[in-house]
Amino acid sequence: MTSAYEQLVARLKRAHYLGTISGLLGWDEQVNLPPDSADQRAEQLALMAELHHAAATAPELGRLLAELEQASANLDDEQRVVVRRARLDYDRATRLPGEFAAEKARHSSASYHVWAAAKEDNDYARFAPFLEKHLDLARREAALQGWGDRPYDYAIERHDPGMTAAKVTALFDELRAGLVPLVRRLDAAPRKAHAGLFRGFPVDAQKEFVEDVVDRLGFDFGRGRIDVSLHPFCEGAGADIRMTTRFDADNPLDAIFSSIHETGHGLYEQGLPLARQGTPLGQSVGMGVHESQSRLWENQVARGRAFWRFFEPRLRKAFPAQLAGVASDELYLAINAVEPTLIRVDADEIHYNLHIILRFELEQRLFNGSLAVADLPAAWNARSAELLGLTPPDDARGVLQDVHWSGGAFGYFPSYCIGNMMAAQLWFTALDRLPGLEDDFARGDFTRLLGWLRTNIHEQGRRFDTLELVKHVTGEDLSPRHLLRYLEERYAPLYL
Ligand code: ZN
Repeated sequence: MTSAYEQLVARLKRAHYLGTISGLLGWDEQVNLPPDSADQRAEQLALMAELHHAAATAPELGRLLAELEQASANLDDEQRVVVRRARLDYDRATRLPGEFAAEKARHSSASYHVWAAAKEDNDYARFAPFLEKHLDLARREAALQGWGDRPYDYAIERHDPGMTAAKVTALFDELRAGLVPLVRRLDAAPRKAHAGLFRGFPVDAQKEFVEDVVDRLGFDFGRGRIDVSLHPFCEGAGADIRMTTRFDADNPLDAIFSSIHETGHGLYEQGLPLARQGTPLGQSVGMGVHESQSRLWENQVARGRAFWRFFEPRLRKAFPAQLAGVASDELYLAINAVEPTLIRVDADEIHYNLHIILRFELEQRLFNGSLAVADLPAAWNARSAELLGLTPPDDARGVLQDVHWSGGAFGYFPSYCIGNMMAAQLWFTALDRLPGLEDDFARGDFTRLLGWLRTNIHEQGRRFDTLELVKHVTGEDLSPRHLLRYLEERYAPLYL
């Protein structure tokens, strides 16, 4: 007879595998789907979502959890973690009535198309009622989950377990205070990265170079692949990780850095314990930790001198004519270009944080009622001028630029910046614990860093909350000091 714990794990795995099928259908939609097949795919995805919801909310799952909680003295440490996290997931899933989930899904779908058209036509007024309804849905969802008095905290906690708006505020206030003066100094510096350095880099050769980089960083192509999509992403779990990138013949750095970013996500997923797949110990902590992995590889590792000591000769070998007139210093400056921009996704790793702080502040005000949806564009533009020194000439390049709010994804933006802070803190800890680490990189060897991340982050699964994990690995609380130090040390010598 199988134990209650084994039955629980079997049910969790069933729900997990149903979720991975949806993920694969979603990946295929963005990579392969013929143009007239979208309606059929939407039906397939809706059906899978229904099956997944039924599996995740099955009364038998609740019964098994209750039985195991009663007898928790008989469980070992790992089993207790699994039961505790699975209880959280089960309660969250069962507290949302099916009609509410369906209403939210319908509104998100309608809202996405209205947002895309509103952005195209620079017409915020058309999108505003849809945003209003999303805020209403978010408040109702928080109330259903028992967070009615703190709806924005719920939105944040959903992405980064253990995080609250107050904690994010404290971190961002300190970060902004240190970042704004650095940004002002860099923006005023006469030295600039050369724009338009790259022309005519054949996509096939770019693809070969990128695959070599991804392979050397440690991505296992035996259980994952990299394809092309409009917006790069990483999808999948366990033994099947699907990453995407994109190619621009006149900007090879775009493919290189988006691929490395997604590889960071892919390495995290591949490093989660396969034997625990489907249980909370085989899952990532949340968005912030995920983003810390992608940013660490993309920024701390791949924008560094040591990385390019190894890869620059290879890049030149792949593109001898295209790079013949580009000096080594020029190339390195282009890799670390700093330029204020209105658009978050185009921002360099310094300005990027200011884009996030702006969105976090405005979301908070929308939730606490001090900012009306109708006044959002004016507030956005004013804050953009203060933080970035740039005022959007239209809403398409301002408040309408991001897709997130069209899906009601509030509380998501802070994760990017939490990831940046965490990446820098992990980086200095790794440098301290692994002497000579960057000498490895200069030889094209990334195994010690990956092994350290595997042991300390990946193999922990969801054992810890976001902040607990940072403290566990680095020995101190999450702090923006490390990101500020990293940015100063990387960019001041280049530009100041
Ligand atoms: Zn990412």
